[in-house]
Amino acid sequence: MMPILLPWLSWLMWMSPLASDQVAARQEQKVATSEPPVYRLDTSTITRPDHLIQPARRPGQAQVAVVIDDLGHNFSRDAMALQLPEAVALAVLPGSPAGPKIAEMGAKQGRSILIHLPMQGEDMGNTEPGTLTMGMSMSEWQQHLADALIAVPQATGINNHQGSVLTAEPLAMQWLMQAIKQEGGLFFLDSRTTSESVAYRTARRTGLPVLSRRVFLDHETEEPAMQAAFDEWIRLARREGQAIAIAHPHSLEWLAGRLSTLESQGVTLVPLTTLLPSAVIARSTGQSDAPHERALLPSPQ
Ligand SMILES: [Zn+2]
Repeated sequence: MMPILLPWLSWLMWMSPLASDQVAARQEQKVATSEPPVYRLDTSTITRPDHLIQPARRPGQAQVAVVIDDLGHNFSRDAMALQLPEAVALAVLPGSPAGPKIAEMGAKQGRSILIHLPMQGEDMGNTEPGTLTMGMSMSEWQQHLADALIAVPQATGINNHQGSVLTAEPLAMQWLMQAIKQEGGLFFLDSRTTSESVAYRTARRTGLPVLSRRVFLDHETEEPAMQAAFDEWIRLARREGQAIAIAHPHSLEWLAGRLSTLESQGVTLVPLTTLLPSAVIARSTGQSDAPHERALLPSPQ
């Protein structure tokens, strides 16, 4: 009971003026010790680099975006992601050896960079450094988030690595979204590693720009299964106007070949930030009415 209660009590303390001063002091410290970000999203206007602004799409043209997750443990393999079209976003593990370097290189190309923030899943046997868990205090979460932003200052977004336990906990997600919002200039992408995730709806209630993954392209590594997932991604985009997919470093070569077929299928690959629903956020009621909440695909932990 205590390990569960303690974080919530700490959260109440975090909301106090004294705790806010501590957070402000930490942020000042962070500014002093880190390089300035290459660019950060302004949550009120959702800006993006000029060269990534897409021309007006043809009426009815479906849009797709894709993120490469889990980058940072194998530079020579993961750097292949830099060869993909520049609309492809990169999600780097902030505590990994090569993640910060790949983020830096990707940002110079104008890509969206995400912090692939490790969160508690069902299997805690092989966890990343800095994993957010239920047993931590709010201040520990703040510190992990601050550390991640120092390691990857180019990040404009955050998505969850694993997290099937944590993203299903409403109060934990309330903590997280408040902390991310307090950092400013960031959006959240719910990787949806569990159909029980409340991350998307909690982010909306918090007023944080948020997106949601629809398809894992390479959860199953056999090519016919990946092709089926790719076809499903296109089908969803055509049906709903847009769809976000996640892929992983082991399928980069396959993905490069498949992405080159999108235009001929009448689907446009766009930067992830193009799909940020700023208008939806402005009139958010906190209700879970997004199309992604329906017909979820099976997903890994
Ligand atoms: Zn991951």
